[in-house]
Amino acid sequence: MSSKEYGRKRNFSRTPEPRAESGEASGKSTDESIFVIQKHDASSLHYDFRIEVDGTLKSWAVPKGPSTDPREKRLAIPTEDHPLDYADFEGVIPEDQYGGGTVLVWDRGAYENITEKDDGVVPMSKALEQGHALIKLHGKKVSGGYALQRTSKGENTRWLLVKMDDDEADARRNPVSTEPKSVLSGRTIEEIAEEEGAEKSEK
Ligand code: MN
Repeated sequence: MSSKEYGRKRNFSRTPEPRAESGEASGKSTDESIFVIQKHDASSLHYDFRIEVDGTLKSWAVPKGPSTDPREKRLAIPTEDHPLDYADFEGVIPEDQYGGGTVLVWDRGAYENITEKDDGVVPMSKALEQGHALIKLHGKKVSGGYALQRTSKGENTRWLLVKMDDDEADARRNPVSTEPKSVLSGRTIEEIAEEEGAEKSEK
């Protein structure tokens, strides 16, 4: 889904979210690509999983969040591309705006594309187009290989996000529930809602 959809869905005089593509590539360090997982307490709580691909953040909403157990397949619903700046966004989106609710940066870091075919790395954009991508995350809470697998196409395109069975796989961990705080600010989602929500109403 294109990033135009991102701008079309939002009123930037009302939401504190970054404008579409305002940051350009200027603040970006080297050729490292980033991923971010944002906990989003909207009408239904979910985790927005985003990876940088060709200057934008490809995005999925993962209702249960990522698992560290390779046997757990997590549903991932594709959403519109988000601007790169969005990876730093934490705060409260007004209830009357698209995606209204509190956003917390749950995990963030670099990722590597490890999708291979015929001894070569498949470019990430192509891998996603083909519905199968392997990535290696270097986050604070989740790390190691993850597979993104498309399971249906068309109107109701669905993907699965599944931990690969590698050294970082651990069926006993459950970081979604045991490590709820923001890796950016150390705050809980309740604290963000309280602090940022209060700032808003003072204006
Ligand atoms: Mn969301």
